[in-house]
Amino acid sequence: METREWAMKILVPVKRVIDYNVKARVRADGSGVDLENIKMSMNPFDEIALEEAVRLKEAGQAEEVIAVSIGVPQATTTLRSAMAVGADRSILIRTGDDPHADTEPLAVAKLLKAVVEEEGVGMVMMGKQAIDNDMNATGQMLAALLGCSQATFASEVSLSDGAATVTREVDGGLQVITISLPCVITVDLRLNEPRYPAIRAIMDAKRKPIADKVPEDYGVDITPRLKILQTVEPPVRQSGEVVASVDELIKRLRDEAEVLA
Ligand code: AMP
Repeated sequence: METREWAMKILVPVKRVIDYNVKARVRADGSGVDLENIKMSMNPFDEIALEEAVRLKEAGQAEEVIAVSIGVPQATTTLRSAMAVGADRSILIRTGDDPHADTEPLAVAKLLKAVVEEEGVGMVMMGKQAIDNDMNATGQMLAALLGCSQATFASEVSLSDGAATVTREVDGGLQVITISLPCVITVDLRLNEPRYPAIRAIMDAKRKPIADKVPEDYGVDITPRLKILQTVEPPVRQSGEVVASVDELIKRLRDEAEVLA
């Protein structure tokens, strides 16, 4: 990663995941969540990262926003949405046609590192986690591979003099840190409220370029290292019960649930 002053590029990795409103069902063989004919959308944390990157560009603090997605060819749709919101161009790294073959965080991080180096990116703004596998690992791995600064769980970001000041959501409060650029920032829910693109922007996005790549173009081996042994539905929640008084509640918590001494 080059150290740059302003006029910098921001890379936003956007993952195509099961839509957050869809009730996930486990495949019959327990190998994962069924994604056949399921509505897919941009990972919600990536929408927030993208919004922040576009705002930085609109504020004149970035020169270009590049979206990148790693996965099936249908991720093109995710990239078109990213460009409708304001990304200038995109890169699709095709990993195959099977929607159930997820690329693991380490492989994603290696591919992103290659893109960062090829493009001379000054900042990677990305989701803190993908809602399909909840790994919360890719950003941290990418920063480690690049040997650059990182700020995770951002709820506020500002830039000045080649540094980013980031408010982080940590257990029990907020932490403010300053990191030098180039850097990786992973974003949390409260950073901003992503916009809905206007029809005009959706139409314009159709003309923006998408570079078509495969992992071999970057010399990265994406062979899985993890093996999923089993995926199960969460246990069904038992219905609640209304009790007549606080005394009865305490008695039952003590005698039946045995959670009070
Ligand atoms: P994870 O570590 O898998 O929870 O993902 C964290 C973040 O890494 C996501 O919010 C995305 O910004 C990025 N990411 C992970 N997988 C992909 C992918 N296949 N394509 C693009 N970005 C990804």
